Amino acid sequence: RICLLGLLFVSSVSFFTSLNMERTYIMVKPDGVERGLVGEIIKRFENRGYQLLALQLLTPTKEHLEQHYADLKAKPFFPGLIQYMLSGPVVGMVWAGKDAVKTGRKMLGETNPLASAPGTIRGDYCIEVGRNICHGSDSVESAEKEIALWFPQGVADYQRNKSLTQLIY
Ligand code: ADP
Repeated sequence: RICLLGLLFVSSVSFFTSLNMERTYIMVKPDGVERGLVGEIIKRFENRGYQLLALQLLTPTKEHLEQHYADLKAKPFFPGLIQYMLSGPVVGMVWAGKDAVKTGRKMLGETNPLASAPGTIRGDYCIEVGRNICHGSDSVESAEKEIALWFPQGVADYQRNKSLTQLIY
């Protein structure tokens, strides 16, 4: 019986590992929404092969933003950052797939758009560090925290049809 339980445990772990469902939180900031770049950013994640698990437009509260950026509280730009993020609605999303956090950051570019390579989101669409249009989680741990903060109601959990996606991705 113990053997059977062990087998069940190992097979369920490898089942979830085989899904490669690493998740990241991507947020189009108020300037990105204002400039009509939501579709462009979604398109890039879809084209790359990531799977959309959640999507919402909302006007964030100061409390939410202060929690989201808690580790930057001591930075001199913190008050300006909060003011910027309160200037309009944002579009938050959860994307899942292989190496979603690291690859998501690569797709975004550097924090400072001027240091971002052309072809990245920031490298293609902005020049100001204080108006860099998009947020992406910087670690798996912060991704999970951010997903819980912005989607307390939970996010979708579904498998794509492998026969449709395998050939493309
Ligand atoms: P990232 O968003 O690339 O993870 P950080 O977590 O370091 O970068 O900073 C969060 C956000 O704070 C940045 O995306 C940017 O909007 C803003 N920010 C960072 N550095 C500066 C700065 N020197 N001046 C103004 N705003 C900044």
